[in-house]
Amino acid sequence: MSGTVLILGGTGEARDLAAALVARGDRVVSSLAGRVARPRLPVGDVRIGGFGGVDGLAAWLRAHAVSAVVDATHPFAAVISGNAALACAQVDVPLVRLERPGWGGEPAAADWIWVDSSEAAAAAAADFERPFLTVGRQGLDSYVEPLRDAAALVRVVDPPEIAVPPSWTVVLARGPYTLAAEVQVLRTHSSDVLVTKDSGGAMTRAKLDAAGELGVPIVVVRRPAAVRGTRTVSTVAEALDCVVDR
Ligand code: NAP
Repeated sequence: MSGTVLILGGTGEARDLAAALVARGDRVVSSLAGRVARPRLPVGDVRIGGFGGVDGLAAWLRAHAVSAVVDATHPFAAVISGNAALACAQVDVPLVRLERPGWGGEPAAADWIWVDSSEAAAAAAADFERPFLTVGRQGLDSYVEPLRDAAALVRVVDPPEIAVPPSWTVVLARGPYTLAAEVQVLRTHSSDVLVTKDSGGAMTRAKLDAAGELGVPIVVVRRPAAVRGTRTVSTVAEALDCVVDR
Protein backbone atom coordinates (compact mmCIF):
# COMPACT_ATOMS: atom_id res chain seq x y z
CA MET A 1 0.00 0.00 0.00
CA SER A 2 1.37 3.46 -0.82
CA GLY A 3 0.77 6.50 1.33
CA THR A 4 0.12 6.83 5.02
CA VAL A 5 -2.90 5.56 6.92
CA LEU A 6 -4.10 7.98 9.57
CA ILE A 7 -5.90 6.34 12.47
CA LEU A 8 -7.97 8.63 14.61
CA GLY A 9 -7.60 6.77 17.85
CA GLY A 10 -8.11 6.73 21.59
CA THR A 11 -9.63 3.23 21.68
CA GLY A 12 -8.42 -0.35 21.99
CA GLU A 13 -9.61 -1.05 18.45
CA ALA A 14 -7.47 1.80 17.14
CA ARG A 15 -4.41 0.32 18.88
CA ASP A 16 -5.16 -3.14 17.48
CA LEU A 17 -5.51 -1.74 13.97
CA ALA A 18 -2.24 0.20 14.27
CA ALA A 19 -0.49 -2.99 15.40
CA ALA A 20 -1.91 -4.95 12.45
CA LEU A 21 -0.85 -2.32 9.89
CA VAL A 22 2.62 -1.90 11.39
CA ALA A 23 3.05 -5.69 11.33
CA ARG A 24 2.33 -5.59 7.58
CA GLY A 25 4.97 -2.90 7.11
CA ASP A 26 2.46 -0.18 6.24
CA ARG A 27 2.98 3.47 7.10
CA VAL A 28 0.67 4.45 9.94
CA VAL A 29 0.19 7.50 12.11
CA SER A 30 -2.15 7.25 15.08
CA SER A 31 -3.69 10.45 16.35
CA LEU A 32 -4.74 11.02 19.95
CA ALA A 33 -6.62 14.02 21.30
CA GLY A 34 -4.35 14.36 24.32
CA ARG A 35 -7.12 14.25 26.93
CA VAL A 36 -5.58 11.55 29.12
CA ALA A 37 -2.43 12.26 31.13
CA ARG A 38 -0.81 8.88 30.46
CA PRO A 39 -2.47 7.43 27.34
CA ARG A 40 -1.96 3.84 26.25
CA LEU A 41 0.15 4.39 23.16
CA PRO A 42 -0.30 2.36 19.99
CA VAL A 43 2.71 0.95 18.17
CA GLY A 44 3.97 2.98 15.23
CA ASP A 45 4.06 6.75 14.86
CA VAL A 46 1.80 8.80 17.10
CA ARG A 47 0.78 12.44 17.04
CA ILE A 48 -1.07 14.06 19.93
CA GLY A 49 -3.45 17.04 20.04
CA GLY A 50 -6.28 18.55 17.99
CA PHE A 51 -5.81 19.40 14.33
CA GLY A 52 -7.61 22.73 14.52
CA GLY A 53 -11.03 21.79 13.17
CA VAL A 54 -12.00 20.53 9.71
CA ASP A 55 -9.60 22.78 7.80
CA GLY A 56 -6.70 21.89 10.07
CA LEU A 57 -7.35 18.19 9.61
CA ALA A 58 -7.70 18.59 5.83
CA ALA A 59 -4.38 20.46 5.71
CA TRP A 60 -2.74 17.73 7.79
CA LEU A 61 -4.01 15.02 5.43
CA ARG A 62 -2.58 16.89 2.46
CA ALA A 63 0.74 17.67 4.09
CA HIS A 64 1.32 14.04 5.11
CA ALA A 65 0.21 12.38 1.85
CA VAL A 66 -2.47 10.40 3.65
CA SER A 67 -4.01 7.70 1.47
CA ALA A 68 -6.76 6.59 3.88
CA VAL A 69 -8.22 7.59 7.22
CA VAL A 70 -9.73 5.21 9.75
CA ASP A 71 -11.88 6.97 12.30
CA ALA A 72 -11.54 4.54 15.19
CA THR A 73 -12.43 7.07 17.86
CA HIS A 74 -14.76 6.35 20.76
CA PRO A 75 -18.48 6.06 19.88
CA PHE A 76 -19.16 9.22 21.93
CA ALA A 77 -16.46 11.33 20.26
CA ALA A 78 -18.93 12.83 17.79
CA VAL A 79 -17.13 16.07 16.92
CA ILE A 80 -13.97 14.48 15.55
CA SER A 81 -16.03 11.96 13.55
CA GLY A 82 -17.97 14.79 11.91
CA ASN A 83 -14.74 16.68 11.25
CA ALA A 84 -13.13 13.60 9.71
CA ALA A 85 -16.02 13.16 7.28
CA LEU A 86 -15.86 16.79 6.14
CA ALA A 87 -12.05 16.94 5.93
CA CYS A 88 -11.76 13.68 3.98
CA ALA A 89 -14.43 14.86 1.54
CA GLN A 90 -12.58 18.16 1.16
CA VAL A 91 -9.27 16.55 0.14
CA ASP A 92 -10.79 13.42 -1.44
CA VAL A 93 -9.21 10.90 0.92
CA PRO A 94 -11.18 7.70 1.64
CA LEU A 95 -12.57 7.37 5.15
CA VAL A 96 -13.70 4.31 7.08
CA ARG A 97 -15.43 4.48 10.42
CA LEU A 98 -14.49 1.65 12.81
CA GLU A 99 -17.10 1.55 15.56
CA ARG A 100 -17.49 -1.39 17.90
CA PRO A 101 -21.05 -2.58 18.52
CA GLY A 102 -22.89 -1.11 21.47
CA TRP A 103 -24.32 -3.12 24.33
CA GLY A 104 -27.83 -2.33 23.15
CA GLY A 105 -28.34 -5.58 21.30
CA GLU A 106 -27.47 -7.70 24.29
CA PRO A 107 -30.06 -9.23 26.60
CA ALA A 108 -30.60 -7.00 29.60
CA ALA A 109 -29.56 -8.89 32.73
CA ALA A 110 -30.96 -6.22 35.02
CA ASP A 111 -33.29 -3.27 34.59
CA TRP A 112 -31.80 -1.11 31.83
CA ILE A 113 -33.02 2.47 31.67
CA TRP A 114 -32.14 3.95 28.25
CA VAL A 115 -31.71 7.72 27.97
CA ASP A 116 -30.55 10.11 25.25
CA SER A 117 -28.18 12.41 27.12
CA SER A 118 -26.03 12.91 30.20
CA GLU A 119 -28.71 15.27 31.55
CA ALA A 120 -31.39 12.59 31.22
CA ALA A 121 -29.07 10.03 32.82
CA ALA A 122 -28.47 12.36 35.75
CA ALA A 123 -32.22 12.89 36.16
CA ALA A 124 -32.80 9.12 36.14
CA ALA A 125 -29.96 8.51 38.60
CA ALA A 126 -31.39 11.14 40.94
CA ASP A 127 -34.11 8.63 41.87
CA PHE A 128 -31.40 6.62 43.64
CA GLU A 129 -29.19 7.26 46.65
CA ARG A 130 -25.91 5.55 45.85
CA PRO A 131 -25.20 5.80 42.11
CA PHE A 132 -22.03 4.40 40.57
CA LEU A 133 -21.04 6.78 37.76
CA THR A 134 -18.85 5.30 35.02
CA VAL A 135 -19.46 7.96 32.40
CA GLY A 136 -15.98 9.41 31.98
CA ARG A 137 -14.66 12.76 33.06
CA GLN A 138 -16.16 14.92 30.34
CA GLY A 139 -19.85 15.46 30.85
CA LEU A 140 -19.54 14.83 34.59
CA ASP A 141 -20.73 18.38 35.21
CA SER A 142 -24.25 17.34 34.08
CA TYR A 143 -24.45 15.10 37.13
CA VAL A 144 -23.32 17.59 39.78
CA GLU A 145 -26.58 19.42 40.52
CA PRO A 146 -29.02 16.48 40.18
CA LEU A 147 -26.78 14.27 42.36
CA ARG A 148 -25.42 16.93 44.72
CA ASP A 149 -26.70 15.12 47.81
CA ALA A 150 -26.22 11.56 46.58
CA ALA A 151 -23.47 9.27 47.85
CA ALA A 152 -22.12 8.85 44.34
CA LEU A 153 -19.12 6.75 43.49
CA VAL A 154 -17.35 8.17 40.44
CA ARG A 155 -14.77 6.15 38.53
CA VAL A 156 -12.54 8.04 36.11
CA VAL A 157 -9.11 7.57 34.51
CA ASP A 158 -7.84 11.06 35.38
CA PRO A 159 -9.09 13.35 38.17
CA PRO A 160 -12.23 15.38 37.30
CA GLU A 161 -11.57 18.93 36.11
CA ILE A 162 -14.60 20.20 38.04
CA ALA A 163 -15.23 20.42 41.79
CA VAL A 164 -17.40 17.48 42.77
CA PRO A 165 -19.83 17.53 45.71
CA PRO A 166 -18.38 16.49 49.09
CA SER A 167 -20.78 13.53 49.25
CA TRP A 168 -19.13 11.96 46.17
CA THR A 169 -16.24 9.51 46.22
CA VAL A 170 -13.85 9.67 43.26
CA VAL A 171 -11.84 6.59 42.33
CA LEU A 172 -9.11 6.71 39.68
CA ALA A 173 -8.89 3.49 37.67
CA ARG A 174 -8.54 2.23 34.14
CA GLY A 175 -9.94 -1.00 32.66
CA PRO A 176 -10.05 -3.76 31.78
CA TYR A 177 -12.06 -4.88 34.80
CA THR A 178 -13.05 -8.38 35.88
CA LEU A 179 -16.50 -9.52 36.92
CA ALA A 180 -15.30 -10.42 40.42
CA ALA A 181 -13.73 -7.00 40.92
CA GLU A 182 -16.83 -5.19 39.63
CA VAL A 183 -19.11 -7.20 41.92
CA GLN A 184 -16.80 -6.23 44.77
CA VAL A 185 -16.97 -2.52 43.84
CA LEU A 186 -20.77 -2.51 43.66
CA ARG A 187 -21.07 -4.44 46.92
CA THR A 188 -18.50 -2.38 48.84
CA HIS A 189 -20.14 0.85 47.85
CA SER A 190 -23.69 -0.56 48.19
CA SER A 191 -24.42 0.96 44.78
CA ASP A 192 -28.13 1.05 43.97
CA VAL A 193 -27.77 2.10 40.31
CA LEU A 194 -25.01 1.95 37.68
CA VAL A 195 -24.74 4.78 35.15
CA THR A 196 -22.85 4.18 31.91
CA LYS A 197 -22.64 5.26 28.30
CA ASP A 198 -23.34 2.67 25.61
CA SER A 199 -19.64 2.46 24.84
CA GLY A 200 -19.64 -1.24 24.00
CA GLY A 201 -16.51 -3.37 24.04
CA ALA A 202 -15.09 -6.04 26.30
CA MET A 203 -12.81 -3.87 28.43
CA THR A 204 -15.59 -2.32 30.48
CA ARG A 205 -18.52 -4.71 30.08
CA ALA A 206 -17.91 -6.60 33.36
CA LYS A 207 -19.73 -3.84 35.25
CA LEU A 208 -22.92 -4.68 33.36
CA ASP A 209 -22.64 -8.36 34.26
CA ALA A 210 -21.87 -7.46 37.87
CA ALA A 211 -24.92 -5.19 38.07
CA GLY A 212 -27.02 -7.95 36.50
CA GLU A 213 -25.78 -10.45 39.02
CA LEU A 214 -26.61 -8.16 41.95
CA GLY A 215 -29.93 -6.93 40.54
CA VAL A 216 -28.67 -3.33 40.31
CA PRO A 217 -30.49 -1.28 37.63
CA ILE A 218 -28.43 0.33 34.87
CA VAL A 219 -28.92 3.75 33.30
CA VAL A 220 -27.45 3.67 29.78
CA VAL A 221 -26.83 6.76 27.66
CA ARG A 222 -27.52 6.08 23.98
CA ARG A 223 -24.81 6.83 21.43
CA PRO A 224 -24.86 10.03 19.42
CA ALA A 225 -26.07 9.63 15.84
CA ALA A 226 -23.52 8.24 13.40
CA VAL A 227 -22.20 10.51 10.66
CA ARG A 228 -24.34 9.91 7.57
CA GLY A 229 -22.68 8.58 4.47
CA THR A 230 -19.48 7.28 6.08
CA ARG A 231 -18.63 3.66 5.38
CA THR A 232 -18.78 1.93 8.76
CA VAL A 233 -17.38 -1.38 9.96
CA SER A 234 -17.45 -2.92 13.42
CA THR A 235 -14.27 -4.99 13.59
CA VAL A 236 -10.56 -4.37 13.23
CA ALA A 237 -10.34 -7.10 10.57
CA GLU A 238 -12.94 -5.35 8.41
CA ALA A 239 -11.19 -2.00 8.80
CA LEU A 240 -7.92 -3.63 7.83
CA ASP A 241 -9.53 -5.09 4.70
CA CYS A 242 -10.83 -1.65 3.72
CA VAL A 243 -7.46 0.10 3.90
CA VAL A 244 -5.41 -2.81 2.57
CA ASP A 245 -7.70 -3.06 -0.47
CA ARG A 246 -6.62 0.38 -1.60
P1 NAP B 1 -14.72 15.02 20.38
O1 NAP B 1 -15.60 15.78 21.30
O2 NAP B 1 -15.31 14.27 19.28
O3 NAP B 1 -13.61 15.99 19.74
C1 NAP B 1 -13.32 17.28 20.25
C2 NAP B 1 -12.03 17.76 19.62
O4 NAP B 1 -10.93 16.99 20.12
C3 NAP B 1 -11.97 17.57 18.12
O5 NAP B 1 -12.62 18.63 17.45
C4 NAP B 1 -10.48 17.51 17.87
O6 NAP B 1 -9.91 18.79 17.95
C5 NAP B 1 -9.98 16.78 19.09
N1 NAP B 1 -9.87 15.32 18.89
C6 NAP B 1 -10.74 14.34 19.26
N2 NAP B 1 -10.25 13.14 18.97
C7 NAP B 1 -9.05 13.35 18.39
C8 NAP B 1 -8.05 12.49 17.91
N3 NAP B 1 -8.19 11.14 17.94
N4 NAP B 1 -6.92 13.05 17.39
C9 NAP B 1 -6.76 14.40 17.36
N5 NAP B 1 -7.67 15.27 17.84
C10 NAP B 1 -8.80 14.74 18.35
O7 NAP B 1 -13.80 14.03 21.23
P2 NAP B 1 -13.88 13.60 22.76
O8 NAP B 1 -15.20 12.99 23.05
O9 NAP B 1 -13.39 14.75 23.58
O10 NAP B 1 -12.82 12.43 22.77
C11 NAP B 1 -11.44 12.74 22.64
C12 NAP B 1 -10.66 11.47 22.39
O11 NAP B 1 -10.83 10.58 23.48
C13 NAP B 1 -11.12 10.72 21.14
O12 NAP B 1 -9.98 10.47 20.36
C14 NAP B 1 -11.75 9.45 21.64
O13 NAP B 1 -11.45 8.34 20.85
C15 NAP B 1 -11.18 9.31 23.05
N6 NAP B 1 -12.20 8.79 24.00
C16 NAP B 1 -13.37 9.46 24.15
C17 NAP B 1 -14.32 8.95 25.03
C18 NAP B 1 -15.66 9.62 25.19
O14 NAP B 1 -16.48 9.10 25.95
N7 NAP B 1 -15.93 10.73 24.50
C19 NAP B 1 -14.03 7.80 25.76
C20 NAP B 1 -12.82 7.15 25.58
C21 NAP B 1 -11.89 7.66 24.69
P3 NAP B 1 -9.63 19.66 16.63
O15 NAP B 1 -10.96 20.16 16.17
O16 NAP B 1 -8.71 20.74 17.09
O17 NAP B 1 -8.99 18.76 15.62
